[in-house]
Amino acid sequence: MNTKEIIKLGDKYLMRNYGRIPLAPVKGDGVQLWDADGKEYLDFVSGIAVNALGHSNLSVVRAIQEQALRLMHCSNLYYIEPQVQLAKMLVENSVMDKAFFCNSGAEANEAAIKLARKYAKGKHGPEKVEIITARDSVHGRTLATITATGQPKYQQGFEPLPGGFTYVPFNDLQALTEAISPKTCAVMLEPIQGEGGVNVAAKEYLDGVKKLCRKFDALLIFDEVQTGLGRTGRLFAYEHYDVKPDIITLAKALGGGFPIGAMLAGGEAADVFQPGDHASTFGGNPLACAAALATLEELIEGEVIEYTNVIGDLLYNELKKLSEKYEYVRELRGKGLLIGMELSIEGKEIVDKCQEKGLLINCVGGHVLRFIPPLIVNSIEVRRAIGILDEVMSEIKI
Ligand SMILES: *Cc1c(COP(=O)(O)O)cnc(C)c1O
Repeated sequence: MNTKEIIKLGDKYLMRNYGRIPLAPVKGDGVQLWDADGKEYLDFVSGIAVNALGHSNLSVVRAIQEQALRLMHCSNLYYIEPQVQLAKMLVENSVMDKAFFCNSGAEANEAAIKLARKYAKGKHGPEKVEIITARDSVHGRTLATITATGQPKYQQGFEPLPGGFTYVPFNDLQALTEAISPKTCAVMLEPIQGEGGVNVAAKEYLDGVKKLCRKFDALLIFDEVQTGLGRTGRLFAYEHYDVKPDIITLAKALGGGFPIGAMLAGGEAADVFQPGDHASTFGGNPLACAAALATLEELIEGEVIEYTNVIGDLLYNELKKLSEKYEYVRELRGKGLLIGMELSIEGKEIVDKCQEKGLLINCVGGHVLRFIPPLIVNSIEVRRAIGILDEVMSEIKI
């Protein structure tokens, strides 16, 4: 099928829950992507920070092929070899003690919310149920996670929402100091807000958040669904800070493109769930875990994360030059290969024109251009992307 035919069928048979761009990718290789009409793109979106190793990474492809031939699914009624290996690898490479596997970021955050409630009620009684999250956060699209998401636009029309959630401005310790209480069972934050505009948590802020959590025995949940697994130049974004969370949630990059989510917990939180408390039929199935194991091995043993810092610096410095060149750029921020360029104008025109010229980027919150290429992007690809962006930005009339 060509692009037109795919779009026509999609518009007829798919629900309209996405405002889709009229582009139909059919093949990928590394940072390259081809659409159904054979047009080539540099992919600086990476399936929304999912394809950390690029498209069709051979180690991941082989792991999936081999596991599919052996055993695809058997349920969590039994022990699953790739699942226990993946748990071991995540625990040994983090400050966490135990893992639970699911299929998405929203599910990982749901699990974290349930765990926090169970932990607090068991220890402090039925009143300790409140969860504080940040404004401009994004935690998923299930009912509990849109409620955790500190943006009304995700919630409107879906009320009644589950109770017990309150919101504070991000990076504002005073606001959290006022909001937290003995009833708080958890504080849930993204170390860098991704969808909310690439907002980086200040060091002093997270230090202060941790102290407040400890004072009230509230669990600190880091939603690392987007920042986790090398994206920020560390395996986990918490490593940029001196703060140990109680729970970390993961998804996006974990399976190298294959769907899988995880919740990691440390200390007392690791032993809260008892048999029957939580479950997922597909969660951590052999195929997903084999893909994730291959991804993690490549990230850690293939020195991809060290490389991310180098190439991230190059991209940041090149974007910095554009920031200084064009007056409508307000700020450049981010870590590793999670970079946001805040504009004083809408970003859509730039995104569309870049796409016409063969560069895929996206825009969050209306006016922040987000750059999240695969972590294996090379300097030639970075320079080509910058060339296209420069050309497009120079044509913008304000
Ligand atoms: C994408 C994202 C989610 C939701 O993940 P899904 O897999 O779409 O459910 C949750 N939190 C953060 C920080 C995300 O970026």
